[in-house]
Amino acid sequence: MPGLETFRLHGDVITPGDAEYDTARAVHNAWFDKRPAVIARCADADDVVAAVNFGRAEGLPTAIRGGSHNGAGLASVDDGLVIDLSGLRSIRVDREAKVATIGGGCLLGEVDAATHEFGLATPAGIISTTGAGGLILGGGIGHLTRKYGLSIDNLVAAEVVLADGSVVTADQNQNDDLFWALRGGGGNFGVVTSFTVRLHPVSTVVAGPMFWPIEHAPDLLRWYLDWQPSTPEELGAFFLFHTVPPAPPFPDELQLKKVAGLAVCWTGDPADATEVLAQVRAQPGLALDAVAEVPFPGFQSAFDPIYPAGDHWYWRTAFFNEVPDEAVDVNVEWGERLPTWKSLMHLYPIDGAVHRVGQADTAWPVRDARYAQVICGVDPDPANAETIKAWAVDYSDAVRPYSAAGAYLNFMMDEGQERVQATYGPNYARLAAIKRRYDPDNFFHVNQNIRPAG
Ligand SMILES: Cc1cc2nc3c(=O)[nH]c(=O)nc-3n(C[C@H](O)[C@H](O)[C@H](O)COP(=O)(O)OP(=O)(O)OC[C@H]3O[C@@H](n4cnc5c(N)ncnc54)[C@H](O)[C@@H]3O)c2cc1C
Repeated sequence: MPGLETFRLHGDVITPGDAEYDTARAVHNAWFDKRPAVIARCADADDVVAAVNFGRAEGLPTAIRGGSHNGAGLASVDDGLVIDLSGLRSIRVDREAKVATIGGGCLLGEVDAATHEFGLATPAGIISTTGAGGLILGGGIGHLTRKYGLSIDNLVAAEVVLADGSVVTADQNQNDDLFWALRGGGGNFGVVTSFTVRLHPVSTVVAGPMFWPIEHAPDLLRWYLDWQPSTPEELGAFFLFHTVPPAPPFPDELQLKKVAGLAVCWTGDPADATEVLAQVRAQPGLALDAVAEVPFPGFQSAFDPIYPAGDHWYWRTAFFNEVPDEAVDVNVEWGERLPTWKSLMHLYPIDGAVHRVGQADTAWPVRDARYAQVICGVDPDPANAETIKAWAVDYSDAVRPYSAAGAYLNFMMDEGQERVQATYGPNYARLAAIKRRYDPDNFFHVNQNIRPAG
C-alpha cells in the first residue's frame, strides 16, 4: 500500500500489529470478526476528507464506522479501510431554535444527555450505545416515533464528505436531492460529519416495561393490535417477547421466565398517563409492572446492561401493514421458543407522525406500514450461533407470508440486493440516479448498497 507511509491524521492510523488493532476493529455484533487493513480513527472532518481520499487513491473497499451497532457488521471490512468516526463527538444545542448539531460519530446516549439539559429530545433508538449516524441515515425508530416521526423526519441538515473528497451541506435549499437520499438511504452517499436535528419538548416520561407470562401472549397480542392504533400519539408502546434477565432488579420468581410484554413510554403530561396505562394494567396476568416517572435518558438506557458489545446477534426483520389473526398464532408459536434468554422479538408501531410524511418525500420507502418487526437471536457463546440463527430465520420465514415487501434496513443482515431493492420499492430508481451523481464509482459500497444507475 504505497500511500500508507504518508497517510497522517489528527487522529490515529491503526494497522494490524498495532496494540490497539483488535479493540479498534471489534464491532458490536461478535458474529463478525473482520480484519481491515487500515483503521482511520478520525478526529475531525479534515481527517474524514483525508481518509476518503486515501481509500480512493489506494482502491480500498471502505467502510464507515459510527457506533458499530450495525447487525450486518457493515462498520468494518476485511482487507480494506475503516473510516472510524468515534472522534467526531461534538454536540451543540440551540435551545431557542430547538435544534442540535451533532458529530457524525455521536452515540444516542450522548445526544440524549446533551438535549435533556434543556428539556428537549430528538427521536432516535432505544439503546444508548447505538450510533446516531447509522441509525439516523437508515430511518430511526424509537419511543418518540408516533408523536414526532422517524429520526430522518427530524433531520434539518447534514455536512457530508463525498466520494471525491469534497465537502457539501445538504438541506432543503442546498443539494436537496442529496438531502432527500440521506433520509433513509444509509451510508451510500458519503460520510456525514455532522447532523442537525430538530428537538422536541420531552423531559420526564412515564415509562418502563410490563411483562405477562408467555401463556398470556395470544390474548395480549390480539388485544394490543386492536388497542395500540387508538391510543394518543403521546404513547409509544411496542410489543415484545423476551426472557426476564437472570439478575436483580427482576424478582427471583420471574428470572429466566419467558414473557410477552409492552415497553411503554408516555411523553405527555404525566398526570394524563393514568387512564391509558390503566387499560394496559387491566390485561389479565400482569406479572411485572416497572412503569414509573423517569427522566427520558434514563429510559433510553434501561435496556443497555442486557446488550453490551460482544454478543453474537442474528437479525431478521419485516414490515407489516396489518397483523392478521393467523399471524398472531405464528408469532406466539415462535415467541414461546426464544432460544436463549437474550433473544427477542419487538414489534414497533410506525404510525402517527410517520404516516404524515409522503412516500416520495424522503428515501424511506414504507410510509404505509404499521409495524416494524425485529427478531434477534442473541447469545454471548459462539457455540450457540447456529441455534440462534436457525430460530431467527425460521421465525422470520414463518411470518413472511403476512409481511409487506422489504424490511427495515437498519435491522437487516446481508440479505442481498433484491431485498434492498424491494425495500426501497418505488424510491429505488431515484436513489440510484442520485447515487450516480454523488458516488458514480460506488466507492461507498460497504452498506445496504444502492448501485449507481447505469
Ligand atoms: C442493541 C441495538 C439496538 C438498536 N436499537 C435500534 C432502535 O431502537 N431503533 C432503530 O431504528 N435501530 C436500532 N438499532 C439498529 C441500528 O439503527 C443500526 O444498527 C445502525 O446501523 C446503527 O448505527 P451505528 O452508527 O451504530 O452503526 P455502524 O455499524 O457504525 O454503522 C452502520 C452503517 O451506517 C452508516 N453510517 C454510520 N454512521 C455514518 C455517518 N456518520 N455517515 C455516513 N454513514 C454512516 C455506514 O454505512 C455504516 O456501515 C439497534 C441496533 C442494536 C445493535
